[in-house]
Amino acid sequence: MTLRDDPFTILGVKEEASREEVKRAYRRLAMFWHPDRNPSPIAGSEFKRVHAAYELLCDPQRLAVWRQTLAAEATPGDPVAGTVGDDLVQALILTLEEAASGCHKNVELIDCVCCHHCAGSGRVQHDHLVPCPACSGCGRVSRPGGRTSRCDICAGRGYLRETACTDCTGSGWQQALRTLAVTVPPGLLDGERLRLTRQAPRPPGGEEAAAGDLYLEIRFAAHALFVLQGRDLHCQVPVSVFRRLAGGRVEVPTLTGSASLELSPWAQQPGEHRLPGCGYPGKRARAAGDLVVHLASIDPHVGPEDIELLEGLEDRLAADLDRRAPQLAAWELQMRARRQGASG
Ligand SMILES: [Zn+2]
Ligand SMILES: [Zn+2]
Repeated sequence: MTLRDDPFTILGVKEEASREEVKRAYRRLAMFWHPDRNPSPIAGSEFKRVHAAYELLCDPQRLAVWRQTLAAEATPGDPVAGTVGDDLVQALILTLEEAASGCHKNVELIDCVCCHHCAGSGRVQHDHLVPCPACSGCGRVSRPGGRTSRCDICAGRGYLRETACTDCTGSGWQQALRTLAVTVPPGLLDGERLRLTRQAPRPPGGEEAAAGDLYLEIRFAAHALFVLQGRDLHCQVPVSVFRRLAGGRVEVPTLTGSASLELSPWAQQPGEHRLPGCGYPGKRARAAGDLVVHLASIDPHVGPEDIELLEGLEDRLAADLDRRAPQLAAWELQMRARRQGASG
């Protein structure tokens, strides 16, 4: 058992968190790591870990057992010299913009530190005798079957000069929040990891040097406008059917602002336009991706004056249908054959 199994650390909640806070944290993480949504190779195991942590936090009895086991393994006052704590993989959620340009982030970790109250011994000396917490001072404890027997903790004396530290429940260590300032270099992709040597949460009893490595796995938050494929940014841009036919300038979004897409007139407009190099930035020798604009043609509402203009356009089209719209010409031909079939 290690701090990696700590349900509070896994769900990122404080020990005093309410049921509702725990539930919210669980839902968010379960959604994030769900293997159906998250393609990362660690998604399945992380999802299970989050679920197990949530189940543990929902069960006060199991949680109490877990705490006792952890405290027993911590061997108070006896730091495990030379051992190295577990490496930890933690998700770092970034927007596409943050990841593209690089950013600074604060990551919160929970370390195990020596208990201040008992200096890590797990025991507290009193200058006068205090009632034994196990038998409340009577020297006897009840056993199954309604019998009582001598209290082992105080050897039946009922009073003690030394008791377990209440601050750390005798473990000798406590949890402490640590904020780590992280610089994320520009151009990292979803699933890439940043390794922070010896920055994993410190295990119980561990000295600073005994901490494992912390891996921050980059995760992209869903973006309202862009979908990333490789380093190409795909984006849907609505244009009116008139603009699409007439051509001209269309303003399209980029990660840093906007760019201009020139649609040529007359030409049959394809649905997809590429702006080379305007996508997600490259890294080292890798070139930047393209911005791939998918035009969505919008039919606007038309008023009486528009209808007059459109009727004029329709007349002009009808006069030259074979050349300008062969599909419509073929359709007209079919309909004419039906009319003649019906009348003849
Ligand atoms: Zn203590
Ligand atoms: Zn006792």
